[in-house]
Amino acid sequence: MTIDSARVSENERTLLARVPKGLFIAGEWRDAAGGATFGVEDPATGDLLAHVADASAADGATALEAARAAQPTWAATPPRERSDILDRAYHAVVERIEDFALVITLEMGKPLAESRGEVRYAADFLKWFSEQAVRIRGDYRVSPDGQSRLLTLRQPVGPSLLISPWNFPLAMITRKVAPALAAGCTAVLKPAEDTPLTCQLLAEVLSDAGLPPGVLSVLPTSDPAGLVGPMLADERLRKVSFTGSTAVGQNLLIGAAQNVLRTSMELGGNSAFLVFDDADLDAAVEGALLAKLRNGGESCVAANRILVQSGVADEFAERLADRISQVKVGRGTEPGTQLGPMINREQRDRVQLLVDDAVRGGATVVTGGSAPDSDGYFYEPTVITGVSASARITHEEVFGPVAPVYTFDHENEALRAANDTRFGLVSYAYTRDIGRALRVAEGLEAGMVGVNRGLVSNAAAPFGGVKQSGLGREGGFEGIDEYLSVKYVAIDKP
Ligand code: ADP
Repeated sequence: MTIDSARVSENERTLLARVPKGLFIAGEWRDAAGGATFGVEDPATGDLLAHVADASAADGATALEAARAAQPTWAATPPRERSDILDRAYHAVVERIEDFALVITLEMGKPLAESRGEVRYAADFLKWFSEQAVRIRGDYRVSPDGQSRLLTLRQPVGPSLLISPWNFPLAMITRKVAPALAAGCTAVLKPAEDTPLTCQLLAEVLSDAGLPPGVLSVLPTSDPAGLVGPMLADERLRKVSFTGSTAVGQNLLIGAAQNVLRTSMELGGNSAFLVFDDADLDAAVEGALLAKLRNGGESCVAANRILVQSGVADEFAERLADRISQVKVGRGTEPGTQLGPMINREQRDRVQLLVDDAVRGGATVVTGGSAPDSDGYFYEPTVITGVSASARITHEEVFGPVAPVYTFDHENEALRAANDTRFGLVSYAYTRDIGRALRVAEGLEAGMVGVNRGLVSNAAAPFGGVKQSGLGREGGFEGIDEYLSVKYVAIDKP
């Protein structure tokens, strides 16, 4: 397969020229303290899209001071005012859906249609938390002995550091920024180095929506450890929220221990996708396709291991391979593209290593299995069968368009295999038996379960994992609690 992608067009250059390139600190755009910048690439071609300011530890300290200074006023701002700013930002993002979608596709690679889907999903968090900002509850209770009154209130945790990944350059940010701002926390946001441009546009939108200076700073950097390390050690910071790999999350937890920071961690996954003999096979194939190829498989909720009961295993693998082999691969801006490039060379090469390792262990490539000839970082949509339990791909997050299919005989065996991982983010089950669906949903060690559904993400739902997939929940009623501390006031009996 050869993929010859279009280069950056005039139209795309015009939009890129309008994206702010500086650091956003204390309500204004400025150069990095040392004047440094770094480049952002188009993963479909390797072409340079733009340079953005490269924040250092000095900029981190300046942004943190702005967050500290703005914290008391922001916390005291009426919830309705905070809500209105988020609501205005929601409308602005929806109005500029085409700009946001194109910037996402340019820097991250996914097809434009999926980028539009991400923009709507991302905007939903602004809307949802604009609604939650005015619903922060307290409590009034009588003590069991009747001698006192127990009053509880929820107050913002304080200046929060938000670190986001490149796979959803907008949604993983609004999922953190919206609840933080709704709760009354000020924030410093560090986008991923592969995809800072989308975040720059969001900062512009929030600023235009009336966010007061200092409440939010945005610091792109090519040196995340150098920027974040000193911030975690700084007593002005009160919270860190992170989405990314388990390895980096574990390091951040160690760093966060210095100041006993509140932490929210959305880490890696190793989702099992279970298909039982009694499943609606058409729905299961479509669900697997969605759970595997949405976002090019570069998602922590992507189906990592597809486990199929022996009665339907061959037919399922054949149908999945047939559908996957028809997927159109190309630059995300080209009409009809269903699978864009992977984010960078390193990730693409990692996926090839995992496939090669599985094949060495006895797996068969049914379709795909290699990188097309191209300047970009494409990988063929791939199905492999006969993968051994000890293959690396069975235990590591693939983060690419590769579907390993396994076979099982009994429900218990499927559950055991599904849970045989250090991760626990999401798993999926396809069955028409309601009893089995509930048994399996209860038995899966995961923060989320999709039943006859290959997509669980929703701004109104609590997203998060157990085991090494993380701590805390984003979205839903739970999402804002991550940014609130409970205070208890004891009052003597009236
Ligand atoms: P992925 O595997 O999805 O690239 P990473 O965990 O490497 O995930 O990156 C997710 C986010 O964590 C990005 O914003 C990245 O810049 C940031 N990051 C990576 N390494 C560190 C680090 N040592 N300290 C702080 N942030 C980091």
